[in-house]
Amino acid sequence: MFPHCKINEDDALNYISNVSEQDVKSSLLKTKLAFSDFMNLISPAAQGFIPEMREKAKRAKLCYFGKTVRLYAPLYISNYCINDCEYCGFKTGTKFERKRLAADEIIEEAKVIRSYGLDSLLIVSGEDPKKINVDFLVGVVKRLREMFSYISIEIAPMPEEDYRKLFEAGVHGLTLYQETYDKPLYESLHHSGPKADYDKRLEFMEGGAKAGFYNLGIGALLGLHDWRSEAMSMAAHALYLRKNYWRSKISFSFPRITPIEGGFEVPNEMSEDELEQLMLAFRLFFQESDLYISTRETREFRQKVISSCASHISAASVVVPGGYVEVAELKDDLGQFTLNDTRSVDCVAEDIRLAGMEPVFKDWDTCLG
Ligand code: SF4
Repeated sequence: MFPHCKINEDDALNYISNVSEQDVKSSLLKTKLAFSDFMNLISPAAQGFIPEMREKAKRAKLCYFGKTVRLYAPLYISNYCINDCEYCGFKTGTKFERKRLAADEIIEEAKVIRSYGLDSLLIVSGEDPKKINVDFLVGVVKRLREMFSYISIEIAPMPEEDYRKLFEAGVHGLTLYQETYDKPLYESLHHSGPKADYDKRLEFMEGGAKAGFYNLGIGALLGLHDWRSEAMSMAAHALYLRKNYWRSKISFSFPRITPIEGGFEVPNEMSEDELEQLMLAFRLFFQESDLYISTRETREFRQKVISSCASHISAASVVVPGGYVEVAELKDDLGQFTLNDTRSVDCVAEDIRLAGMEPVFKDWDTCLG
């Protein structure tokens, strides 16, 4: 579990398995939840209270976000990677034709995303330090800032001084998943490369907070370890970051493992119903936080959670470098994960409206930065 967690995993899971329906009901009656209430809401006993959780989460989301859903898209700039994460299609041992975009190619990709009306961009890359280094990224971000109001990164972790350069160039948000907070499992899944160091990966997020990023995105790759344990770790991690780096907002993502080339046997499958329960519990415990849902999930599931708890949704995502421009050539290329919602931005926006909400393409401006 997250190292600063005040409870150990066995005690926590034992508590959760003994939560009663009455415990869940009393947590749902509260306006401000304690950590123990969060544990009640992710318990098996809470599975019978999903409609009540949904209603309460809807009210919380309405309170902090109104009837809005923010749209964004990822831009993959390289699928070269020196790490060997067992669950990922980009791991160093996978043989396929890799791509790394030059600065001008990144701008061409960005133009396509911008043409969809999107104003919020997530730059994604494998760990590719030879080419995708801080100097290259600073140059690219300065150009992208001319096109997008909000830029965040999901790339190889960097030292604080490099994060600072990226922040000054115009990056607002940092996303860095711990993948799993269970250290022995982490070490068994990350065979080689810089990412194999669990503690160091955890520390990088603090470097990002010190560098000034406004948004810090955390998450676990759901399916690796017991999801309830990961949920408690994510919540504890967020509370730790909030306490120590209060200038930054903490946001949450909930990526579930989807099939990859070569196969990976998911050790702890998580169902859609469980994913919904988890997201609702996060909305109720962290009412003001951004919750992200990606195109890993189906249209139906995404429609359901944007109504109740998710505040941010990706759209028209392509998870191959160069894929926005070269859509026609995509079919034989290997993405990082399988997409389950390939709707266009217009379709996603229309579905948001049909659900009685407003799609938001821009929610940030330079004057705020
Ligand atoms: S998860 Fe990230 S670091 Fe690991 S192999 Fe995939 S791209 Fe590389």
